[in-house]
Amino acid sequence: MRYCKKCVMPDTRPGIKFNDEGVCSACQSYEHRNEIDWDARYKELEMLCNKYRGMNGSSYDCAIAVSGGKDSHYQVYLMKEVMKMNPILFSVEDNFEMTEAGKHNIKNISEEFGCNIISLKPDRKAQKKLMRYTFEKYGKPTWFIDRLIYTFPMHMAIKFNTPLLVYGENVSFEYGGSDYEETYSARNQLNNGVASDIPLEELLKLDGITEKVLEMTKAPSKDELNRLDPMYVSYFIPWNSVTNYHLAKKRGFKDLTHEWDRTHHIEDYDQIDSPAYLVHPWLKYPKFGHQIATDYASRFIRYGVLTREEAIELVKKHDHNLDPRSVEEFTKFLGYSHSEFWNIVDKLYNKDIFEKNIYNEWVLKNPVWKDKN
Ligand SMILES: [Zn+2]
Repeated sequence: MRYCKKCVMPDTRPGIKFNDEGVCSACQSYEHRNEIDWDARYKELEMLCNKYRGMNGSSYDCAIAVSGGKDSHYQVYLMKEVMKMNPILFSVEDNFEMTEAGKHNIKNISEEFGCNIISLKPDRKAQKKLMRYTFEKYGKPTWFIDRLIYTFPMHMAIKFNTPLLVYGENVSFEYGGSDYEETYSARNQLNNGVASDIPLEELLKLDGITEKVLEMTKAPSKDELNRLDPMYVSYFIPWNSVTNYHLAKKRGFKDLTHEWDRTHHIEDYDQIDSPAYLVHPWLKYPKFGHQIATDYASRFIRYGVLTREEAIELVKKHDHNLDPRSVEEFTKFLGYSHSEFWNIVDKLYNKDIFEKNIYNEWVLKNPVWKDKN
């Protein structure tokens, strides 16, 4: 396991590449921003919006997949108020107990920007069954929900005839990933598929899981996908989690201040809707040796708000430390005891990068604070 010389990202992040100087592709993308003509990019966005504005008369002319988070606030602001589009919003929600901030934020988008939101509240019976299976077999408990977050807006955009389907950042390009390509189009994301790595045939063998239950998790057909023109905002506008957060806050977005201080995060405004959901993203840690604290520490270094030394201290303190409230709500939701939960997590540790210490705890063989690169 080696680390980027500029940020704290390890080379175990799937798809990330390091150059000869030991700098990761996410840091290279960030530096590349200086060479981009952002005025020209902005004009490209205007032209794209002009192409679709009014295409359905007084009905919707674009679609935005929203979670209610800071980035959703920014996207709705940009498309509705700046680009003067008439967006319809699609969300998948109420799949876990929500935080007070989470409940407030999704309502706030509608109140603040004046938009209709169509929400899918997934089949909880199927959700629980699938969560237990995909957690125990693959360490991917929210596969079903993540799949719906990915497919539901596409199915709906086709139904509403809104080809322009707006996504936030191109995760692979901004943070390092396998489909590293500079384009506004999110078509590759659609074609490659997200969370498509669990075969449906396998899930159909589970008691009570039928084709009907899984129908909505399937991607639209190729012909249907070709009718969509999915776009990443981050191609047109220099994407920044912190500035999105500040804009959202000015428009009524609530963070977790006074509600919940999470042990495995270093900010209080990303993925704040539901404690139980956070188990899945944290499971990157046993598998790949880093999770969202490293992601944010790296981003903050790039934004110039943390030094590498400060970032390393935060990673050391938070990355391994899955929040107890997340564990509590997750185990309660699925009916696991705490020891059953930790036994499943224990099997996910990657022995190439982890070893047990004298207290029988998993520790990284080469953590960033001991790295001599
Ligand atoms: Zn880096």
